[in-house]
Amino acid sequence: MTSPIDLLRRQVSDLHQELVRYDLVVWTAGNVSGRVPGEDLFVIKPSGVPYDELTPDTMILCDLDGNVVEGDHAPSSDTAAHAYVYRHLPEVGGVVHTHSTYACAWAARGEAVPCVLTAMADEFGAEIPIGPFALIGDDSIGRGIVDTLRGHRSPAVLMKSHGVFTIGRDAKAAVKAAVMCEDVARTVHISRQLGQPLPIAQDDIDSLNHRYRNVYGQQRAAR
Ligand SMILES: [Zn+2]
Repeated sequence: MTSPIDLLRRQVSDLHQELVRYDLVVWTAGNVSGRVPGEDLFVIKPSGVPYDELTPDTMILCDLDGNVVEGDHAPSSDTAAHAYVYRHLPEVGGVVHTHSTYACAWAARGEAVPCVLTAMADEFGAEIPIGPFALIGDDSIGRGIVDTLRGHRSPAVLMKSHGVFTIGRDAKAAVKAAVMCEDVARTVHISRQLGQPLPIAQDDIDSLNHRYRNVYGQQRAAR
């Protein structure tokens, strides 16, 4: 029998390769974590290990204060932010952080990505909001993520002058949100080059998002 923690180590390790596949990370930047179901524990990437050397065994098991419970390496330098999110948003089962290019271009300007495409209304249900400028080293990044995303439809926040944090019901959903965030940040950026993207009426955003979450295909299971 494979334990739930071993399964999660495998899943979180494999999901890091999706960040590479979708071109969301360079060098050792970026990280994925996943909450251990029913326990006050999560699994996260080790700090400073190249993506092609990540294996289930190198993943770090932490408690919700960010302390290492099991692992041979130091955990990701963003562990405190992930831990803060898990402590304060009990429905969240996965967290992802990237410095993906187009999303960071918006973060660098401190500008939210407006909801101007139906696919964005589906996935995000709103603009992708800007979180506060926050330095690494204490709870301020985690607090900024939670304060921005609590009660917001978007599973992604652009932390000002920094990068993307996404949340999901599990680690896979958070990775999907990170992939989609970069995709819409890129498209809306390109649209801006030739003019002003047209807004979508709030009623239409609401109904698109409602349909996507509740009616459309297998999406509810996939989120
Ligand atoms: Zn970062």
